[in-house]
Amino acid sequence: MVSVPECFSESYAEARPKFCSAAAAAGGALRSWLNPKAHGPNGEALYLDTARFGADDAPNMLVLIAGTHGVEAHCGSGAEIAWLRSGGPSKLPKDTGALVIHAINPYGFAWTRRVTEDNVDLNRNFVDHDKPYPKNDGYLAIADAVLPQDWSEASKTETERVFAAYAQKHGAYGLQGALSSGQYTHPDGIFFGGNTPTWSNRTIRAIARQELSRARRVGIIDFHTGLGPFGHGELICAVTPAAKSFPRAKAWYGDELTSPEGGTSTSAVVVGIMTDAFPQELPDAEVTPIAIEYGTYSVPEVLGAVRADNWLHQRGDVRSTQGRELKADMKERFFPAGDKWREMVWARADQTIGWALKGLGAP
Ligand SMILES: [Zn+2]
Repeated sequence: MVSVPECFSESYAEARPKFCSAAAAAGGALRSWLNPKAHGPNGEALYLDTARFGADDAPNMLVLIAGTHGVEAHCGSGAEIAWLRSGGPSKLPKDTGALVIHAINPYGFAWTRRVTEDNVDLNRNFVDHDKPYPKNDGYLAIADAVLPQDWSEASKTETERVFAAYAQKHGAYGLQGALSSGQYTHPDGIFFGGNTPTWSNRTIRAIARQELSRARRVGIIDFHTGLGPFGHGELICAVTPAAKSFPRAKAWYGDELTSPEGGTSTSAVVVGIMTDAFPQELPDAEVTPIAIEYGTYSVPEVLGAVRADNWLHQRGDVRSTQGRELKADMKERFFPAGDKWREMVWARADQTIGWALKGLGAP
């Protein structure tokens, strides 16, 4: 029997060797991609690792992705390792292979941040950077409150006042949208989409081309945390309902599938998400991507931690007592302590992977 909580790790440094040895023990072919622009808090090198299972020309490919939002890899890594240790690869149906992607944003995982080494929200970075960026007037209105000069009771009270006034006018969901739908104007802010494709963006595109170009069907599950009821995994189809993959995802996951644009999701409508890369790089394949979003704490608690972490890296001292306290809070908001949450994560992941495999193999 696999001990599920032990599949999860307290740090990137713990998770990486655990993933690699679980993948090797399951017979996977490992590849590693070094991030040339960043290192971890203890000077460690940062790698994105992939493990591949099944025939080189398998027509159906299951793809699991951990760590699009750095710190959320505590969850995705644990689920991937649970899948590897519980015999997932040996139970793959005929004609189906798997590509397990660990720490797509290793900097964010190692530093307990959502963002990449360039302060970019990877899940807002896959827009066309040669075109005008989507506007976010709401963010412009509250940007100063998002990143105050200092992190004190007074500045927190002032930020709450500004946010409450905004929510009064636009509703709580309007405030969440202004903060989290993505912005391209404030490189020192939160949910910044960047102004060029970041390393993780370029690397995942190369991986897609090298590992998946022979597949006809690709089913992707991208692991996230921080929205929704504690421990529940919401299956989000973030593409527009008009997209070709939407009805396929609906057929695979049924009424469990939610849609930000359809108003059934806890997530704001976002653009430039990471999984958009796959249909772009694999024009001849049927790509069916979803995100699985596990709830942790309330939206204000989670967004408060994200703002504090951003302030810490822009204006604070990561190594101070305050820095350590804010980091501990950040980790808890995206990776709650204790066995229950982890067991709920794996139960839902196991179920969802089963549905994806059924969908991939459907006639
Ligand atoms: Zn996320």
